[in-house]
Amino acid sequence: MSNNKYKILVIEDESNICNLLETILTTNGYQVVVEGTCRDGITMMLSYVPDLVILDLGLPDRDGLEFIKTIRQSDTTPILVLSARSDENDKVLALDLGANDYITKPFGNAELMARVRAALRDRRISEGEGGLDGKFHLHDMEIDYARRVVAIEGKEIKLTRTEYNILEVLSLNQGKVLTYASIIRKIWGPTDDGGIKKLQVNMANIRKKIGSIPGDNKYIINELGVGYRIGEDS
Ligand code: CA
Repeated sequence: MSNNKYKILVIEDESNICNLLETILTTNGYQVVVEGTCRDGITMMLSYVPDLVILDLGLPDRDGLEFIKTIRQSDTTPILVLSARSDENDKVLALDLGANDYITKPFGNAELMARVRAALRDRRISEGEGGLDGKFHLHDMEIDYARRVVAIEGKEIKLTRTEYNILEVLSLNQGKVLTYASIIRKIWGPTDDGGIKKLQVNMANIRKKIGSIPGDNKYIINELGVGYRIGEDS
């Protein structure tokens, strides 16, 4: 499969990481442009119109979070954040500002390409090829959005309304990490107290009902300290 139609803008100031990203991405058939500062990245967004941005948070002129804030005022291009392992708070902030996903340095080639493909798939869904009338499939799980029914291997799973809503939100955001706070806002509203605990209890019940043992990443992946994401068909 050729990916040549996809253009990726890399905003990163460390030359060894730039070279690595450029090599991996071009080898996989993507077009790549690299910028080293937040300001040049914003300029290139307008002239290059990329399909995906890979963004380092530690940039020499401004924080990468500022880039996300600026771009998200008018632009839904997927943003994949590159972050150092210690920046847990920055990951949450970046996601809550509208980044789609993050990848932790140092990263492997296969992991990077999986995240890139997932983020590009998310762009297609947000442009209206998916939608609530359809069905979502992941391994042997099916979510029927019209009937609000989840089935595993064709067998219907009895979920509460809240449990279904959580699974629906995650499935509609495949390719994205949803922070705990953003899931809580979507399910219970902005003013809810004790959300995290309720979310954890509901998630444990969902996992039990869909037959997912702790640490099993087939359907739902817990990004520890950050949030949850739905799995991917490999
Ligand atoms: Ca940097």
